[in-house]
Amino acid sequence: NVLLEVKGLTAVVTESRQEILKGIDLIIHQGEVHAIMGKNGSGKSTFSKVLVGHPDYEVTGGTVIFKGENLLDKEPEVRCHSGLFMSFQSPVEIPGVSNMDFLRMACNARRSTLGLTELGPLEFYGFLSPKLAMLNMDPKFLDRNVNEGFSGGEKKRNEILQLAVLEADLAILDEIDSGLDVDALQDVAKAVNGLLTTKNAVLMITHYQRLLDSIKPTYVHIMENGRIVKTGNASLAKQLEEGGYRAIADV
Ligand code: ADP
Ligand code: MG
Ligand code: MG
Repeated sequence: NVLLEVKGLTAVVTESRQEILKGIDLIIHQGEVHAIMGKNGSGKSTFSKVLVGHPDYEVTGGTVIFKGENLLDKEPEVRCHSGLFMSFQSPVEIPGVSNMDFLRMACNARRSTLGLTELGPLEFYGFLSPKLAMLNMDPKFLDRNVNEGFSGGEKKRNEILQLAVLEADLAILDEIDSGLDVDALQDVAKAVNGLLTTKNAVLMITHYQRLLDSIKPTYVHIMENGRIVKTGNASLAKQLEEGGYRAIADV
């Protein structure tokens, strides 16, 4: 089944009106892992932010259908509650809100859109514990304010913890491998693999083959100047690793 269908998507920077996305086409089915690669500045992060409704960008053309509904007329929170998750390249800190409270609120908002009852603090802790363990995260992270003073690697683990709690249908992971040491990368990859089912899907943005060794992509897309210019399977990423973007140009 089709989860996400993007057709001819164009978008500009809201303030300057500069066009960044110049016609993106992409179809993601349930059970698939898609990787987007591409040089710095090719529009990868912009594409993912446009999908979640970031206010810095305005869509000027094209369509995005998520789970059979028009995604673009929905508010960012509604997109999130409907099962679209994005892990940001630089996760934000939320002073004054404990990670535990934040995760439980997010989880309950999602549950209510699924018609499920809310989880109380104790029940939620029971739900969360195995997910913390899977990510090798110390429970003390739950009492700290969201991302406040977390190291880069801890923030990334925390993003994946959010994903695990939300049980999203489509997870967009923007450079989750950046700044991770080998152990953290393995934990994150293991957690993402553990969350993958035949019903959901992952769209990950990465520069590096090593992430794709751990989380096997069904498709690899190369983005250039606001468009997807080439699509292949996992071997496309290997070609890229060996020969750089020049090696795959006009192949
Ligand atoms: P990537 O993630 O592929 O490295 P980005 O999507 O971050 O690329 O950026 C694509 C291009 O759009 C870059 O040239 C960047 O400078 C520009 N851009 C993105 N967001 C903004 C913004 N908010 N204001 C101005 N320019 C932006
Ligand atoms: Mg970049
Ligand atoms: Mg980026």
